[in-house]
Amino acid sequence: MEITVVHGDITRQQVDAVVNAANRGMRGGGGVDGAIHAAGGPAVLADCVARFPHGLATGDAGWTTAGDLPARWVIHVVGPDHRSGQTDRSLLTSCYARALAVADELGAGSVAFPLVSAGIYGWPKHDAVAAAIETLAAAETAVAEARMVAFDRGTYQLIAQSLSTT
Ligand code: ADP
Repeated sequence: MEITVVHGDITRQQVDAVVNAANRGMRGGGGVDGAIHAAGGPAVLADCVARFPHGLATGDAGWTTAGDLPARWVIHVVGPDHRSGQTDRSLLTSCYARALAVADELGAGSVAFPLVSAGIYGWPKHDAVAAAIETLAAAETAVAEARMVAFDRGTYQLIAQSLSTT
């Protein structure tokens, strides 16, 4: 699998699946979650309600339609909330591994990822990048491209630097 990085908005990516940094409730939220629901439209929330009546566990992944997004699917993951004391790193790496497993179930060839837990959930950015890249690099998957989408320049530079030494 090729791991790439772009600076931009994940809702604009032309890929088979975009990953959402959701929360356990799976009914939308702030940050990238809010952006994906806003751009995907009500079909995304309706599918979340239908497919995840009891939400989703931290570290797990599950898919819905992508509604009006260019992508075909949204793969929702629930990162650990570092700010409220969830500091078990395996819950963060699990998000990337589980997202790729779901992508394989769907037959998605290209998947765009945000930097899970690094926003509202407050995971230290350097380690959020390291966890993402090391997990993606070690994954056994049929996905051809994992595209990290950095929302700001600083995050883009951190990811690009990490990729250049992987
Ligand atoms: P979490 O609650 O898991 O921390 P956030 O959505 O708050 O999730 O942040 C995760 C990352 O997604 C942060 O680096 C944030 O800057 C980034 N982000 C926010 N909006 C977008 C977007 N539209 N496209 C890509 N990344 C985004």
